[in-house]
Amino acid sequence: MICVLTGGTGGAKFVDGLRQVIPPEEITLIVNTGDDLLWWGLYVSPDIDSITYVLSGLLSRERGWGVKGDTFLCLQAMGQLGEPTWFHTGDRDLAMHLLRSRLLAEGKTLSDATTMICDKLGVKARILPMSDSRVETRVDTPSGELSFEEYFVQRWYQDPVNSVRFAGASDAEPAPGVLEAILSADAVLIAPSNPITSIGPILSVPGVREALRGARGKVAAVSPIVGNAAVAGPAGILMTAQGLPCSIAGVAKAYEDFLDLLICDTRDARAADALRANGLRVQCAQTIMRSAEDKTALARTVLSYALGGLLADEPNSEKPLSGLPAVPAAADQP
Ligand code: GDP
Repeated sequence: MICVLTGGTGGAKFVDGLRQVIPPEEITLIVNTGDDLLWWGLYVSPDIDSITYVLSGLLSRERGWGVKGDTFLCLQAMGQLGEPTWFHTGDRDLAMHLLRSRLLAEGKTLSDATTMICDKLGVKARILPMSDSRVETRVDTPSGELSFEEYFVQRWYQDPVNSVRFAGASDAEPAPGVLEAILSADAVLIAPSNPITSIGPILSVPGVREALRGARGKVAAVSPIVGNAAVAGPAGILMTAQGLPCSIAGVAKAYEDFLDLLICDTRDARAADALRANGLRVQCAQTIMRSAEDKTALARTVLSYALGGLLADEPNSEKPLSGLPAVPAAADQP
C-alpha cells in the first residue's frame, strides 16, 4: 500500500502518473481540505474534486481542474443574476458539489460523502480527506485575512502575504483511516504540492506529523520547487512568508522532522549536494511533468527510490520492489 499526501494541481499531475504505475487499489490518498469553501451555498472541496476527477478519468488536463469538456452555462446564468462568478464551476462539476452538499446536509461526514461519490464514479483508490472537521487556510495580507480561494483565485495571488494559518486545526481530528494509512504504508509519498497551503494544512491536523515520524515505510517528498522557484503558483511567495527559503532546502526544512528522502529536479543537483552534506538523503530526477510519459516516469522513479532496493547506497534493502524498472544511475548524477 502506498500512501500519498496531496493537494491541488501539482499533486493531481503526480497521482495521474502514479495510477499508471501501480494498481489504484494500492493507493491511499490523504487530501488537503484547507481550501474548501461554500460557493453559492454548496460545499466545494477543490483538492478532493481534482483527485477524484483524475482517478475517474474525468479531469480536464488542459485546465488542471474541473471536468473535461465541461460547459459553464450555470456560471453565466448566475452572473446574469448578479451572483459572484470568480470561482469557476462547470455544469458537470456542479453535480459533484450538489451531491456532496446533499450528503453533508443529510448528516454524512466528508469522508463518507467522498467514499460514496468515489464508488459511484468507479474510483478504486482510497481518497481520504485529511479531516472531517473544518480546517480553513487563512492568508494574512495587508488588505486583511483572506480564505485561500479568495487569495488564489479571486485575487490572483497578487497580495503581499504576511503569514498563513490554519483556522480550526488545533481542535481537528484526522479523518478515519488517515493515521493508520500513514503508519502502515509501504511508503508515504508527499506529492509536489504547495508545501504551505496544500501539504501544510494536512500537517497541521493533530497526530499527522507524529504518524509520519512513526511511519513504517520511507517518507519521500517530491519538490515542487525547481531552480529556486515554484514550477507554478504561489508556493515560493508563501514559503518566504512562512520564513522558509524558496529552494529545495526550504522544502526539506518544511518536512524536516519526518522526511527520509527528497526527490528534486536534476537542475538542483548542486543544492542537493549541500543537503546531502547535512545528512538528508536526496535523489535528483527529471521532475517536470509536461507529458503523460513524464508523469509515469516520475512516478516510477519516486516509487523505486521510496520502496528501496534500487538505491545505490542501499544494496540490501529489506523491501525490494519487483515489477518496476531500475532507475538509471545517471538520474542521481548532477
Ligand atoms: P498551488 O500552489 O495552490 O497551485 O497548489 P498545488 O498544491 O496545486 O501546488 C502546485 C505545486 O506543484 C506548485 O508549487 C508547483 O511548483 C508544483 N508543480 C506543478 N507542476 C509541477 C511539476 O510538473 N513538477 C514539479 N516538481 N512540481 C510541480
